[in-house]
Amino acid sequence: MRIAVFSVKPYDHSFLEKANEEHQHELVFFETHLSQATVALANGFPAVCVFVNDQLDAPVLQALALGGTAIIALRCAGFNNVDLRAAQAHQILVVRVPAYSPHAVAEHTVALILTLNRQIHRAYNRVREGNFALDGLLGFDLHGLTLGIIGTGKIGFEVAKIMSGFGCQVVGYDLTPHPDSKQIGIQYVELDDIFALADILTLHCPLTPQTHHIIDTQAVHKMKTGVMLINTSRGAVIDTLAVVNGLKSGKIGYLGLDVYEEEEGLFFEDLSNIVLQDDIFARLLTFPNVVITGHQAFFTRNALEKIAHTTLTNIAEFQKLGQCSNQITI
Ligand code: NAD
Repeated sequence: MRIAVFSVKPYDHSFLEKANEEHQHELVFFETHLSQATVALANGFPAVCVFVNDQLDAPVLQALALGGTAIIALRCAGFNNVDLRAAQAHQILVVRVPAYSPHAVAEHTVALILTLNRQIHRAYNRVREGNFALDGLLGFDLHGLTLGIIGTGKIGFEVAKIMSGFGCQVVGYDLTPHPDSKQIGIQYVELDDIFALADILTLHCPLTPQTHHIIDTQAVHKMKTGVMLINTSRGAVIDTLAVVNGLKSGKIGYLGLDVYEEEEGLFFEDLSNIVLQDDIFARLLTFPNVVITGHQAFFTRNALEKIAHTTLTNIAEFQKLGQCSNQITI
């Protein structure tokens, strides 16, 4: 099938080309994001392939439908950037990669926890400058602490497994408890209780109207003083301003982010020669107890191979059957 591939980086290019040896789709690569400004590029393509920060709102979907697009293939698991009702109205199928490597994201989550706890980000710079003093680098044992997980699905469950290996007690909040939760002793509690109990709170729920700003000023107020907060799910699960205030007051002791609610136009680009315009993001960068990565939790060789393979197989399945086992239904 002829596929317009948006938001392409060199690494996407090589993994997709390799996976396409099996399928022989016609891939046309665009570096730009898909948006109302760029949707004309997709005109005449039956398949459009996108990533996390492409905008598939109602006007874009209408333009895609008019241009003959029948399938949108997301190279990711989350689909908060797609107006599913508009896609359905235009009879455009939306497919995704539901699970490529929960290990990749879970392991990155743990990397953020360990970096913040043992101050690796600060120690790295100090040692390079010949400063071997330990003041300010004091950490704490993870053993015996309570880890709170909001969203104990594929990724949250992997985090629970790893962290219970460190000797943490795991408490979870989810609408649907994980079927294997008893194996590692996840104790399910109410949302307010997870805020009260967690020494480390990590977010692994999807971004939905229910989870939008699930971490707001009230939630921060209910947390333990000095809590470590980690978000590798989607930026808008956190009200960033509420968290900045929590950091300033000392209520939040550590913050690890791989996602940010205004990350579109910021992450995945080299902006090192440009003056940063986002004052909230700039403020976050000033805290010594904040570590931010630019949406790289998924970024392992294993995950990229699986994403490329599943994305192109999804489109081949649609081409053959007119439907796909990984299609998203409302
Ligand atoms: P999943 O569907 O397996 O798990 C999500 C869990 O969240 C489910 O158990 C679900 O019941 C729960 N949930 C849904 N609504 C909830 C609510 N209102 N309150 C509490 N729990 C709720 O998904 P997953 O594969 O574990 O991925 C989780 C999220 O991680 C994705 O939606 C995506 O946004 C994010 N993600 C980020 C990266 C990255 O690179 N940073 C990569 C992949 C996925």
